[in-house]
Amino acid sequence: MDARSNNVGSTDKAILRRYLELPQPDNKVMATYIWIDGTGENLRAKTRTVDQEPRSPNELSWWNFDGSSTGQAEGSNSDIYLKPVAIYKDPFMLGRNKLVMCETYKYNKEPTATNKRLSCEEAMNAAHDQHPWFGLEQEYTLLDRDGWPFGWPKGGFPHPQGPYYCGVGASQALGRDIVEAHYKACLYAGINVSGTNAEVMPAQWEYQVGPCEGIEAGDQLWLSRYLLLRIAEEFGVQVSFDPKPIPGDWNGAGCHTNFSTEVMRQPNGIEAINKAIKALESRHAAHIKCYGRNNERRLTGRHETASINQFNAGVANRGASIRIPRQVGEDKCGYLEDRRPASNCDPYAVTDIIIRTVCLGEKD
Ligand code: ADP
Ligand code: MN
Ligand code: MN
Ligand code: MN
Ligand code: MN
Repeated sequence: MDARSNNVGSTDKAILRRYLELPQPDNKVMATYIWIDGTGENLRAKTRTVDQEPRSPNELSWWNFDGSSTGQAEGSNSDIYLKPVAIYKDPFMLGRNKLVMCETYKYNKEPTATNKRLSCEEAMNAAHDQHPWFGLEQEYTLLDRDGWPFGWPKGGFPHPQGPYYCGVGASQALGRDIVEAHYKACLYAGINVSGTNAEVMPAQWEYQVGPCEGIEAGDQLWLSRYLLLRIAEEFGVQVSFDPKPIPGDWNGAGCHTNFSTEVMRQPNGIEAINKAIKALESRHAAHIKCYGRNNERRLTGRHETASINQFNAGVANRGASIRIPRQVGEDKCGYLEDRRPASNCDPYAVTDIIIRTVCLGEKD
């Protein structure tokens, strides 16, 4: 695909800016409701006008959408409800406008199949006294409109992996504009991003959300994905959360999940960490089921992963299912890193099962 055809369907952002700068009436606020669709991986959004700035999600009313167009309902009974659960500042429309993360409910007010948040919130409430924290390392790959990684030679491959991880330079860092725009937008919106880095595969990047306590980890990660997709859209670039976008000697993409409880963070918390690892080992298969589609293509035992069929843990071991960071091993307290979740995982499902296994003692 040449540069010209790559611009098909793009508009002049300088003209757009004139209209975005128009003053907004005092009694009009745009609220963009965002939800997870029937794939359990993709996001949808639509916007409504409300008459005052909401301070909490309870101040926004439930809404609905056509679930037959999102893989969430039959055409004959198609209305799905949207329940606002978290609000953020809108880095696109600015001012008092808001982005609103939502849960989805069927006509009978039962959660939809892809509403993993309800169960997650129940678990978080039950474990509240243990103060669980999560740090999620979201990896992703930028793709050109033709589906080939952004900045890769058309019909060919870049030089093998080596210079790209944390790389600097025109042929090392592919798509940094999007990464930096996303970082700023996340901080503006109120997402607790703790950092970002270029990954081992060129055009693959990572950012971390956290530490976040309880349900906020899932809410913030989903909202950060929305921001990433939306910003890349403006640049005419696609985002892939596929756990292994390019087969062969190219790293896959994960969502390492760092986790701790209050006792793990206290002196000699390593005992609680080791106990947690035992509990995680006993439910390996159940966890893998919640850790993302097609994860077997990524968890091969190569490219800094453990095999999907084995459970192992170790200090500073990047080929393990669970890694205890070096510093945590030395301090004898801190957190553990579950390296199994894939980049396309639902963080509500991941944090839910971790809490149930480690904090609530659930067994298969
Ligand atoms: P890695 O060394 O695996 O690349 P990163 O620095 O990318 O690790 O991500 C580590 C994540 O863990 C960050 O989001 C960080 O905020 C989070 N984190 C730090 N301390 C804790 C803790 N005690 N509990 C949970 N998460 C934590
Ligand atoms: Mn219509
Ligand atoms: Mn990392
Ligand atoms: Mn990484
Ligand atoms: Mn990691």
